[in-house]
Amino acid sequence: MDVMDLERKPTILILGAGYGGMVTANQLTKELGHNEVNVTLVNKHDYHYQTTWLHEPAAGTMEPDKTRMKISDVLDTSKINFIEDSVVSINREDKQVELENKGSVDYDYLVVALGAQAETFGVPGVYEYAYHKWTVNGAREIKDHIEYQFSRYHNNEDMRNGDLTFVVAGAGFTGMEFIGELTERVPKLCEKYDVPREKIKMYVIEAAPTALPGFDPELVEYAMNLLENRGVEFKINMPISEVHEHGVTLKDGTEINTNTVVWATGVRGNPIIEEAGFESNRARVKVDKDLRAPDHEDVFIIGDCSLVINEEADRPYPPTAQIAMQQAVTCAKNLRALIKGGDLEEFTPDIKGTVASLGGKEAIGIVGNKKLFGTSANFMKKMIDNRYLWILGGPGLVMKKGKNPF
Ligand code: FAD
Ligand code: NAD
Repeated sequence: MDVMDLERKPTILILGAGYGGMVTANQLTKELGHNEVNVTLVNKHDYHYQTTWLHEPAAGTMEPDKTRMKISDVLDTSKINFIEDSVVSINREDKQVELENKGSVDYDYLVVALGAQAETFGVPGVYEYAYHKWTVNGAREIKDHIEYQFSRYHNNEDMRNGDLTFVVAGAGFTGMEFIGELTERVPKLCEKYDVPREKIKMYVIEAAPTALPGFDPELVEYAMNLLENRGVEFKINMPISEVHEHGVTLKDGTEINTNTVVWATGVRGNPIIEEAGFESNRARVKVDKDLRAPDHEDVFIIGDCSLVINEEADRPYPPTAQIAMQQAVTCAKNLRALIKGGDLEEFTPDIKGTVASLGGKEAIGIVGNKKLFGTSANFMKKMIDNRYLWILGGPGLVMKKGKNPF
């Protein structure tokens, strides 16, 4: 155990109020008393949002506000000191975090849970021309932009070929969930703006030889057939090599004209990780078994900023909310052990399965060994979404924000 000044309560500083940060903060209020520790949580906004729901507001099938909730409505802010501000940098030597507006905050223990940002793999034009921000404000921007394309249809004689073409980059889970929602939204927008349905084109462009690489082939086929029947065209085994103002260029030289590229080709950790000098791979730190950064006794890194190896498969687990929340529980227990004494736990993910929505009442998934299609998968997906609300805010939050599974 670290020798702490007994007169002074140790300070735990949590950065980011996403899945990892919120569950850590919540769990710490159970593991440690208010008189034993100061817990401070810093987040960019005064709200927490469900990153896992963002494909819905982005396509316009859910109100953006439904995905977010005030942090003070969910966490006990009499036990957790909440600071609304953006983290600018981490100074590991001085054990200090610099904020954009409110100066700096010292810590004894740091939990970095700052989430991810889009990975471009060096493709030019992504940050300039593609929609790549999976945040509440990013989702609003995508939704408004798509609707604007429809609203222009009858008012602009100079509508270009491609103005009503929508391109999704990457047929991973984010891309597939987003296009599923968009196929639900498009008929409604066509009706609202009197646009003939045949004017709309939707593409999903995937670099790998299959959509959802690594996922069960039967479920992948189910998803692709369903989406193709709703008007989606897949271009598989065909990386996007450039994004420009009015289109994308594919590896074989094909040009697709569009004003709307939604980028979903995977994630990297928060750049603050790299800037702080942690050894990392695409801004994700390969954490020790107890979730601390290597050679750092005082810094835990969880969620999308961390990298945990699946030893059976000999590759990293994909970054998910499922893992972030499980890490948060271990992280809180290990902080308790550091402060009050005891052994630190090793983190082992307990992967319950993967379920992805495809819009409307359709979804696919594997839970345990069971494959799920259609409405049963959709039921499961909604239950998973509600389960997290339950973990965070109990039945009250499920009543307020929960999804109807039927
Ligand atoms: P996040 O939940 O993203 O939270 C990061 C927090 O840090 C945010 O509140 C952000 O505002 C804050 N922040 C960022 N930078 C700063 C800064 N500089 N200063 C202050 N605050 C900052 N995973 C699943 O398990 N199941 C799913 O069904 C699923 N669906 C998904 C659907 C979509 C559309 C997307 C994009 C992802 C999905 N994922 C899913 C992945 C999952 O959302 C992430 O793995 C998870 O959100 C990671 O949790 P986190 O706590 O690391 O980060
Ligand atoms: P991903 O890595 O799962 O998929 C990205 C896809 O983009 C890959 O199939 C990749 O081959 C493709 N790609 C890469 N470069 C490309 C290029 N230049 N052109 C075309 N395609 C390209 O990433 P994601 O879908 O963004 O998801 C991020 C994380 O969130 C993953 O860990 C995922 O498992 C998780 N997630 C889970 C769910 C769910 O469980 N329902 C939903 C969404 C996201």
